[in-house]
Order: sequence, then C-alpha cells, then structure tokens
Amino acid sequence: MHILQSVFGYGSFRSCQEEVIDHLVAGGDALVLMPTGGGKSLCYQIPAIVRPGTGVVVSPLISLMQDQVSGLMQSGVRAAYLNSSQDAYEGFRVEEQLLDGRLDLLYVAPERLLTPRFLDLLTRITPALFAIDEAHCVSQWGHDFRREYLQLSVLHKRFPHTPRIALTATADESTRNEIVERLGLEEAKVVVSGFDRPNIRYRIAQKRNPREQLLRFIGEEHEGDAGIVYCLSRKKVESTAMWLKEKGFKVLPYHAGLPVDVRRRHQDSFLKEEGVIIVATIAFGLGIDKPNVRFVAHLDLPKSVEAYYQETGRAGRDGLPATAWMAYGLQDVVMLRQMIERSETSEQRKRVERHKLDALVGLCEVTTCRRRTILSHFGETPPDHCGNCDTCLESVETWDGTVAAQKVFSCVYRTGQIFGAGYITDILLGKDSDRIRRLGHGRLSTFGIGKELDTAEWRSVIRQLVARNLLDVDVEGFGSLRLTKESYAVLKGEAKLYLRKDKREEKRRKKVRAARHTGSFTEAGDRRLWEALRKRRADIAREQGVPPYVIFHDTTFMEMVVRRPVDLDQMRLITGVGERKLEMYGNEFLRIIIEHS
Ligand code: ADP
Ligand code: ZN
Repeated sequence: MHILQSVFGYGSFRSCQEEVIDHLVAGGDALVLMPTGGGKSLCYQIPAIVRPGTGVVVSPLISLMQDQVSGLMQSGVRAAYLNSSQDAYEGFRVEEQLLDGRLDLLYVAPERLLTPRFLDLLTRITPALFAIDEAHCVSQWGHDFRREYLQLSVLHKRFPHTPRIALTATADESTRNEIVERLGLEEAKVVVSGFDRPNIRYRIAQKRNPREQLLRFIGEEHEGDAGIVYCLSRKKVESTAMWLKEKGFKVLPYHAGLPVDVRRRHQDSFLKEEGVIIVATIAFGLGIDKPNVRFVAHLDLPKSVEAYYQETGRAGRDGLPATAWMAYGLQDVVMLRQMIERSETSEQRKRVERHKLDALVGLCEVTTCRRRTILSHFGETPPDHCGNCDTCLESVETWDGTVAAQKVFSCVYRTGQIFGAGYITDILLGKDSDRIRRLGHGRLSTFGIGKELDTAEWRSVIRQLVARNLLDVDVEGFGSLRLTKESYAVLKGEAKLYLRKDKREEKRRKKVRAARHTGSFTEAGDRRLWEALRKRRADIAREQGVPPYVIFHDTTFMEMVVRRPVDLDQMRLITGVGERKLEMYGNEFLRIIIEHS
C-alpha cells in the first residue's frame, strides 16, 4: 500500500490487485485474468519490489518490455530488460547488475530465458518471483502461440520455491485450462476480474460510403486523437491511409508487407507522438501498450467476437472515454465466408470458424445492448442496458419483415437461385433493365412485387436474411443467393421474422461531446493549461527518447487541470505522481500550472 502511493502515486488498489499481491508476497502462485488495461502489471511489480531478490518477467513483446522498463525507471524502480534488440555489451551490463543484486525487476524474452546460460545465471541470484505475461501464448489453439512458452514449466522444476504468476487478458475457459496444465499451475490461486471495459463506447454502423463515414466519425468525434483504423488487406490499408492523409490527418500505414524498419518507425511515431492515426491490418497492435488510444475503427469485419474484443480493447487503456466504431455490410459477411470456405484447413476447423463469424455477425445485427451481447459471449451475465453503446443510446426499431422476407425468397426461388442481391433487388422493384429483359424475368409473377421498399431497404432485408442464415450466399462463385433449410419456415408463414430498421443517415450527432474526453475542457483557460502541460511533456519525452505517457498519463494531467495544485505537497496527491516523479518533474509542472492560474 505504501509502495502503491510512494512509487506509483496511486491512492488505492483496483479490484483484485491487492488480493493477488498479498498472495504473491506470501509466496503463493497465481493465475490472473484481467482485461486489457485492468492493471495486471502492478500485480507482479509490487511483490517483486517487496520480496528480496529480483522479479523475473517473461514477456514475448519487445516494445512492451521497453515501455514498461522506461516507465518503471521513471518511477525510480530498478528495472532492466534482456532481449534481441540489445547489443552484447548492453546485455552484459544488465547481467552484471543482476548478479550484483541491483535490480528489482528484469524483463526477458522467453527464448532468452530458456538458454542454459540464463538459467545458470538464475541459480546465482535470488529470484523474487517469476511472472509469465501474455500467458495465453502457451495455447496452441490461440493466435499468439509461442513454442518457447511450452518449455516455461522448467522454471518450476528448477526453482520450486519461487512464486509464479501467470497473466492474460484472454478470457475463455479452454485457454485458462491450458495455461494451468502447461505451466503446472494446479496449485495457483486463480483470480478473475470482470471483462467489461465500461469506458469504451461500442458502435456498429451500416456501411454506406465507408470512407466518408470514417472521415465523419474521426472528424466530428476524435479530431486530434490517437487511434487505430483496421482494414483487412494491405492494399486497403495503403489507400485508406493515403486518403486520410489527403484530408489532413496525421496518419501512417502499417502492415506485414512494409519493410521492418518502416514498420518500426511508424509504430514508434504512434507511441511517441501525440494524435497519430495508424491504418493497419491486424499485424498491428499486439503489445501496443499506449494508454491513450482514443478510438479503434474497423472498416472490415474481424473474424470473431474474441478478435473484435481484443482489437477494440486497445482503445482507452487509461480508463478515459474511448470509442470502438465499425462499419459493416453484407459484402463483409460474404467475403469472410468465402475466405473460410476457400482456406485449406480441415472441415472441423472451418466449422469452428463459421460459427465464430456467425456470432460476430449476430453482434452486428443485434437490436439490444452490444456490451451485453459481447460479455454474455464470454460467459458473464451483465445488466440489460449498459447505456454506453449505440443500441442503448439510440434504441433500434424493429419491424415485422415476414412478408418482405417471403417476397425475397420467392424471387430467389423463381430465378433459379443463381443471382446475387443486386439483381434480386431489381426484380423486386420491377426495374426495366437490359439484363432483366434479356433473361425474360419481367414476366415473372414476382416481378415488381416489392415497390413498397427502396433499394437500400431491400439491401438491408437481404443482409439480415444472410446474417441469420435464412439465405445462403454461394461463396465459391459470384455471390448468388440460395434458400436454406431455415428459409422454408418463414416462407410457409410458420415463423414470424422481426428485422432491424436501419438508420437512414447516421444522425449528425451535434453533442457527441460525451464521448470526448481529454482536452474537452470547456473553459478556455483549462484548455490552455492542458495543452501547455502536454507540450512540456512532449519535449521531455523527446529529450529522453521515451513515449510521453511514461512521464505522466493524460489522466494525471486532467487531474492537475481540475485540482490545480499550488505546491509540491498538493502535487503529491495527484494520481500518478510518485516520489521520484515528484522530485524529477514536480517543480517544472507546478510552475506551468501556476503560470496558468
Ligand atoms: P494491463 O497490463 O492489465 O493491460 P496495466 O498494468 O498496463 O494494464 O495498467 C493499465 C493502466 O492502469 C496503467 O496506466 C496503470 O498505470 C493504471 N493503473 C493500474 N493500477 C492502478 C491503480 N491501482 N490506480 C490507478 N491506476 C492504475
Ligand atoms: Zn449497451
């Protein structure tokens, strides 16, 4: 508790932290499941400081390691890392510090840890504890599988009396069991905190003109904020980045096709500069620990609810309001289903992937709370309304679409189940096109039976039918629509079908300010102070070559602006100001505050 305040500058523990810390300090093992941004790091950092010897942290992510170490050093904790980014001399110096007992915390990459040389080093020191970060990397079914993680059980064999803690943000039951089994944590205390991220606002819009929609979203709600825009393909990443740049945004592309040094440079700018937007494939994000990412936008559908939650979870780690925004349309579903069918994996695997995609599409189409849908998916039982997602904020109307669906089914059936959504819509509307005339479909009894809806509305109906598997899209060929087993119940009128009423135009949200946060001070004086603090932070960060947030978080500045400390004693009370930072930066920032008061 004392360390929490004096080193980290925090007034109280977050849920579960204290429990884990006490358990570890007393020598027990633990498995900690907490969402991104939940505060996992403190769970091993404080015990490592309290217990004699050095805490050894296994982490697969080099950039994260560097960030954590810079942050700890800013707070006066004796921390270092060993990984492949260092030269031999630097590595040697760290080893020396370790042997001299001059480190509280040492971060190592798993491949380094497992070398005989390093394991031997460990026998010559007192390990305070072993922390295994991103523990889901042991799971062979997960997307972050790391072979070396399987061998980490060696730690327990060699050092049976050193407490171990495994940490992950991956929630599901099977991954948890795999971690326990593979790391030999049967005796460990399992601590699970809720997975809700209440500060993230979830919004899923119907795709119309996705680029314009994105532009409006960023321009109206997140101007000047740092954010990530996810696209499926490299090509789309490039073109979207280019386009946003033309519109005047500070934006950089990131995908696996870019040279390593370019990728590193772009990632670095994202971390170290303010207000950079990264347009990326999912290659970007693992190990991005930037606390003030204010939005994550998806221009394409992720593969599953898990992937969606993980990707959107990179927003708002600092707990301040953030937005997860996605544009979604029929084409996305068709494309992803095609990718699954065409992939060369086992039928069993495909079935799993289809199922996962269906769950995500379900999330896109729900008319009830999105957060509830997501959290239920992870086995939680959240309240009915969260009040911070689009469906809670602007309730979605439904309508009885049974007759409309029947009309679609008839048209699909009578044209031989070989045409796509566009053509079927033309038939429903009774369009006079060359193609329809050539094929003689103008004589069908269903020609022109759907004039009560317009093109956009029919598209919406068809999309929802596909989403619910009431229509099949031929994924091998040209996207032709076919009836499914389930279609017949609706066709025969045995089941009623309620559909979502899509919003015509996303209403211009004038007062979306609620989703704005940092820098949204209404008083001009507050705003100027805020900018001045951030500017000074940027200068210090640049001088030291570290990201700004390791100096002070935005949340800390917000508190300074609101509370306006007048001396160091008051400064000490601000969240995030520990003794060391007070000493290093207290006077400097105090002066800025006083100048602005
Ligand atoms: P995780 O590793 O679980 O994603 P972190 O350990 O990086 O999360 O913590 C997320 C953020 O919360 C960090 O900015 C951290 O400084 C902050 N934080 C953690 N614990 C507390 C606390 N008890 N009080 C205030 N802030 C905290
Ligand atoms: Zn909600």
